[in-house]
Amino acid sequence: MRPTGALHVGNYFGALLPLVKLQDKADGFFVMIADLHALTTLEDSKNLKKNTFNLAAAYLAAGINPERAVIFVQSQIPQHAELATILGMITPLSMLELNPVYKEMREEHPGQNNLGLLAYPVLQAADILLYQTTHVPVGKDQEPHLEISREIARKFNARFGEIFLEPKVVLQKESKIFSLQDPSKKMSKSHGEKSYLGLFDSPQKIREKIKISVTDSGKEIKDDSSKKPAISNLLTLYSLFAGQPVKEIEKRYEGRGYAEFKKDLAEAAIDYLKPIQEKRKGIEKNPDYLEDVLEQGREKAQKIALATMEKVRKSAGLI
Ligand code: ADP
Repeated sequence: MRPTGALHVGNYFGALLPLVKLQDKADGFFVMIADLHALTTLEDSKNLKKNTFNLAAAYLAAGINPERAVIFVQSQIPQHAELATILGMITPLSMLELNPVYKEMREEHPGQNNLGLLAYPVLQAADILLYQTTHVPVGKDQEPHLEISREIARKFNARFGEIFLEPKVVLQKESKIFSLQDPSKKMSKSHGEKSYLGLFDSPQKIREKIKISVTDSGKEIKDDSSKKPAISNLLTLYSLFAGQPVKEIEKRYEGRGYAEFKKDLAEAAIDYLKPIQEKRKGIEKNPDYLEDVLEQGREKAQKIALATMEKVRKSAGLI
């Protein structure tokens, strides 16, 4: 994930929690904080360092276990940039220009149509291939990017010899969360403070944001994403926070109003987030611990990155 600011519950259920669940199933689990990727769209860098530490703290608070996972910061391993340069030499421009995400990002950030945006799948391929990664957990919408990484690995191997493994996709079960103010949009921190539930929002803020969240016409608490997108989104959230199936929640609220439902949803959110928020407070009190975790991650990642680069340089004919 990119350290671009406060995390919301969309990031948590869509990206962080699936990683936490996956970490015990893998031998060698790498979690990278993509600070170089963050630079592509940043207007300034004054908060980048803070956001990097905050994201590391959020990973730990959410349950990433540094005994299982190598947590490291991308820019601390210079081989990402080195490998990206080499991979760039064999990546057809057309492949990058056709990437639909490039088009979206260019529209979203009109002032920042930079080479980094166009070439980010090459850096992403370097992020993955540097560690001889076998499996990459992604959501459905990230699948095309993985295909670009696989294609780049194939091209490199065909040109210079079999150095890279072709990483396989591990499709994550997606929980897509929508904006509290406009259920046609994904929850995102770029649509204003009221539109998202922050992972570290105070109970008071959570109650307020849920209370003023938009609802649909009618009174029924019913899961129907085409006719009742706002309530369906709140039901998804309720189900995730309370660990109960949507159907069960619908049944419980038969004949009861939106206000009562929202009140209970806020309490379920507060209860769910409490241990994560408390853990984060503990981590904040001990900054040395966080630095140690990142330093250990850096050392482990560096070792593998150097070994891969030695092979890459040799096969590409670099001295
Ligand atoms: P933001 O939209 O806040 O800028 P990012 O685009 O940086 O967040 O997303 C970081 C990760 O969180 C990605 O893996 C993305 O798929 C996931 N994610 C972001 N928003 C949501 C959402 N609303 N629902 C589910 N997953 C999300």
